[in-house]
Amino acid sequence: MLIPIRTFSILSLGLLCTALAYISYDSTLVQTATAQQSAPEKRPDAWYPRTEKVGPDEMFVVALGTGMPTPITRGQKSSAWYVELGNGDIFLFDIGSGSVENLFALRPEFHRVDKVFASHLHTDHVGDAAALWVGGWLSGRYTPLHIYGPSGAKPELGTAAYVEGLKKTYAWDVSGRAGILPDAGGELIAHEFDFKQDGGVVYEKNGVKITSFPAIHVLDGPVSYRLDWNGLSFVFGGDSAPNKWFIERARGADFVIHECFYTPEGLAKTLGWGLRQATFVSSYIHTPPSGFGKIMSEVKPRLAVGYHTIRSPGLDQLILEEIRTTYDGPLAIANDLMAWTITKDAIVQREVVSAERVQAPPTTQGYKEAKRSGEARYSEFTNNGKWAGYKPPPLPER
Ligand SMILES: [Zn+2]
Ligand SMILES: [Zn+2]
Repeated sequence: MLIPIRTFSILSLGLLCTALAYISYDSTLVQTATAQQSAPEKRPDAWYPRTEKVGPDEMFVVALGTGMPTPITRGQKSSAWYVELGNGDIFLFDIGSGSVENLFALRPEFHRVDKVFASHLHTDHVGDAAALWVGGWLSGRYTPLHIYGPSGAKPELGTAAYVEGLKKTYAWDVSGRAGILPDAGGELIAHEFDFKQDGGVVYEKNGVKITSFPAIHVLDGPVSYRLDWNGLSFVFGGDSAPNKWFIERARGADFVIHECFYTPEGLAKTLGWGLRQATFVSSYIHTPPSGFGKIMSEVKPRLAVGYHTIRSPGLDQLILEEIRTTYDGPLAIANDLMAWTITKDAIVQREVVSAERVQAPPTTQGYKEAKRSGEARYSEFTNNGKWAGYKPPPLPER
């Protein structure tokens, strides 16, 4: 197995970022993006947006958010994972607060970004759902956004209620875009399933099968997911204390993500909590590094990926030392915008190098031509407030 891990000096990354700041504004790059077909380990050391296609047998994963609910920093957003497959499908697992910024950094084809699988309904896992709903619609999505997620102990605690709540909350926003944006792109569709199902199929299409299984975190409801496609497997653990379902469902999978929280002492020190509260949170509703290591020793993935922690030199050292007391296999502690190309022969880890301020990705003809109806209108009161001193250009025909 091959897991080359490329590293950059701060200086070279800085220079690359500066270069990209210019390159990303060159629209010709978009049209000339080459379809690479070299082996993943022979490609550039960094992944540059819109310069590389996912090969037909490849799975491409990007960590969009690896951090915490607080502090959400410029360097680390809350939980979100981007998965693109060689068949053209794109899936998001979680869409936590701030993560849409990193999604835009990839400059994806937004008409394909239409499915989110939520592990649970904490803001650090779904807080950017509205930003994706409307931002993706403005950026090229002309079909509904689908949100898959678990039921809760009561109907009002489930994913369907969450999605209905979003629609009510953003009624003004969505109504005001009618007629300007494609009708169907404004639709938000919930797919709620029973959180108790252990390996139940929640999505099956185009050769892709996604199953869910329960997790143990705060209240009834949280789940984890497994995606199987083309002989490759991706497992995404949402927040959870170590649980038997994950061990069983993730066993032997290729790419296995599980939270790797603070140590009790680290949490107490970092957030200024007492040791009892810190131990409860880190080890009873989350999984500390020693627990993460134990899980991965049992699961034995091709690559174990930890997240949901703050990356800092001091904490990194503590986390790694503690993981290595219980696990000595292939390991990555994820940081935002780490990317992996996964094939049957290799897992290649790289960094996404993207400009700090990115250009919107191009839209498609389908987006431009999609049906738009029901134009929003002002009342006579507001219309009468238009200043006669300014005349807008004539409006072209549809
Ligand atoms: Zn949570
Ligand atoms: Zn969380």
